[in-house]
Amino acid sequence: MKRILVTGGAGFIGSHLCERLLNDGNQIICLDNFFTGRPRNVEHLIQNPDFELVEHDVILPYTKEVDEVYNLACPASPVHYQFNAIKTAKTNFLGAMNMLGLAKKFNARILQASTSEVYGDPNLHPQPEEYWGNVNPVGFRSCYDEGKRCAETLFMDYYRQHNVRIKIIRIFNTYGPKMLPNDGRVVSNFIVQALKGDDLTIFGSGNQTRSFQYVDDLVEGMVRTMNTPEYFTGPINLGNPVEFTMLQLAQKVIDLTGTSSKLIFKPLPSDDPKQRQPDISLARKMLKGWEPAIQLEQGLRQTINYFENELKAGRL
Ligand code: NAD
Ligand code: UDP
Repeated sequence: MKRILVTGGAGFIGSHLCERLLNDGNQIICLDNFFTGRPRNVEHLIQNPDFELVEHDVILPYTKEVDEVYNLACPASPVHYQFNAIKTAKTNFLGAMNMLGLAKKFNARILQASTSEVYGDPNLHPQPEEYWGNVNPVGFRSCYDEGKRCAETLFMDYYRQHNVRIKIIRIFNTYGPKMLPNDGRVVSNFIVQALKGDDLTIFGSGNQTRSFQYVDDLVEGMVRTMNTPEYFTGPINLGNPVEFTMLQLAQKVIDLTGTSSKLIFKPLPSDDPKQRQPDISLARKMLKGWEPAIQLEQGLRQTINYFENELKAGRL
């Protein structure tokens, strides 16, 4: 049994990860300041004596002897990470530094949840890990994009200077149950709009693309990355390379929900990447046959099912 710290563990991805690691027989400390995470996401785990929920902000140090750290603490949707941009940059930098300090002290392995946003609005397609990106350092998305880039730098420097046992994953758009209904991300927006009979909001022309990964595939990739040989640090892309335009996504949600909602077009947010698709050759090679197993239609059905239950319970 390992003792594992998951920062941001009460969030969308973190809560799925905590559940998985607990089911694998580990002891979990779930750390969260509940900015975008909710105790409700992990309430079904609280009775388990091997699960501990701690309210804590990662910009402050935290000390507890653990074997592994998954560092996920950071709001992920543009609406939330731009709400307090300075706090987002602090969470990325100070959070990473505090967790690296803890990993150094206890010789723990530590995995950083980085993002495809480090590639910015990419002019290389699909994006391999060697690509350095095309990122605006002074825009509205910069607190997140540059914050995550700086965290990657810190991780690599702790590895080079102090031999800390690090792993960096770059997560591409991920969706699934427990996404917040109001965080503005496209999958949750479209599903909630469709279920309520509201029009689906397409930003820009809707021809921009994203590649959507179901959360269970990501969690599998995270656990496998943590268990790669010592010499492997990443960065490693984790995503589903099948690419869709936002118009195609909207049509799929309309078909699967059977809604009578129509499309309405809204302005494109600034620095919105035109296309995004992971090159997952490295993940295929390093993660022993890892491959996204759940394709968009199946994942959307499961996510729609979750939001239907939320609607019935009066929570939307
Ligand atoms: P989320 O917003 O649901 O989860 C983030 C969690 O971190 C929340 O529980 C939040 O309360 C917590 N948190 C935020 N600031 C904190 C702080 N200062 N101290 C302690 N806790 C704090 O988002 P998510 O989609 O679950 O994302 C999890 C991680 O994965 C993030 O680091 C995000 O950048 C990364 N990521 C997500 C995606 C995606 O598509 N969902 C893509 C790329 C990267
Ligand atoms: N988007 C959209 N309608 C929405 C929300 C988002 O058309 O209601 C677009 C957004 O402009 C972007 C894409 O969908 O091009 C993905 O947005 P999201 O915020 O989910 O992820 P990110 O931009 O961070 O990849």
